[in-house]
Amino acid sequence: MNYYFHVPFCQSKCGYCAFYSEVAPSLELQDAYLDALERELAAFTLNGACETVYIGGGTPTLFDESRLERLFALIAHKLSPSCKTEISIEANPETLTPAKVELIRAFATRLSIGVQSFNPQLRATLGRNCPQKQLEQAIKLVQKAEFAHWNCDLIYAIPGQSPDQFQQDIQRAVSLGIDHLSCYNLTPEEGARLSDILTPDEDVATEMWHIANCGGLPRYEISNYALPGGQCRHNLNVWKGGLLVGFGPSAAGFDGKRRIIQPASLTEWLRHAPPEIDEIPTARRLNEIFAVNLRTVQGWTPQLWSEVPHADSWETRLAVAERVAAETSKKWFDISPEHVTLSDSGLLFWNTVAEGYL
Ligand code: SF4
Repeated sequence: MNYYFHVPFCQSKCGYCAFYSEVAPSLELQDAYLDALERELAAFTLNGACETVYIGGGTPTLFDESRLERLFALIAHKLSPSCKTEISIEANPETLTPAKVELIRAFATRLSIGVQSFNPQLRATLGRNCPQKQLEQAIKLVQKAEFAHWNCDLIYAIPGQSPDQFQQDIQRAVSLGIDHLSCYNLTPEEGARLSDILTPDEDVATEMWHIANCGGLPRYEISNYALPGGQCRHNLNVWKGGLLVGFGPSAAGFDGKRRIIQPASLTEWLRHAPPEIDEIPTARRLNEIFAVNLRTVQGWTPQLWSEVPHADSWETRLAVAERVAAETSKKWFDISPEHVTLSDSGLLFWNTVAEGYL
């Protein structure tokens, strides 16, 4: 079983972000969240071993040391992660302290640090509030802690960013000793504070997507790169339709048939407002899962497909893939009895491929 915890707090709101979070929350609000989480976990019935935990947000590291310790204790007490469990946590550089890094190092197996760009002007364009000095200090702390697995998040196609500047961001990230890199194309999300002015140039974005592929770490998903063994197991499991339980406001889960989405409001979540249930016919759900995992370089094999909850036959999958390839572009697909994957150009046009599955 895979678990996602959404910590809905941020110091300030980045201009491109539409994830649900409360800005500059009071300590009382943070405690109310942790109290409610404790009650939810106490009422939750475990179902199988804990394979992965992902603590995201928001900014989990906005918590001070004692609250971060409490969050970890709640999760450990309920889920009893084993030495095989992957535990990932997202961190924002400006919130890291030596004590928090030590706590994270003792509990989590992966750290994901949200840099977005090492260039302060580009971070300012993004409305990302992280002073350069704090970014450099955080990087030193994380390097000193010698995480076996850590990721750096970058954003590209930022207005005013040149391909050279993006190349420099990648080189700097890889030189830090990370084993995982996420490079996200700036996407104007509806509801984001600066969505009107953060409009990427599509041609530049395509050029930078190719640059990212030559950055040093092998691509394993459209936006993700890792050394062997550095891939995020949590995301890999979720992309291929693995079971997921989501805790916290706006957290999504999947029970094998239905997506269960918690209310995107801390007030509503604290009031135990019911989650939204996304129930769609099984055939459509299977198409959706198949399309999502085509984002990975590995794609699908008959074995992987057989592990999907309520999977139909591999022959059915081959037939649907042939149909979508004929309707979009055969050059985007590599279809054989042993696998279905997308070519580089297919990955680049994944959105169009996915539409063919809906
Ligand atoms: S990008 Fe991260 S830190 Fe920035 S507002 Fe969104 S969740 Fe918060």
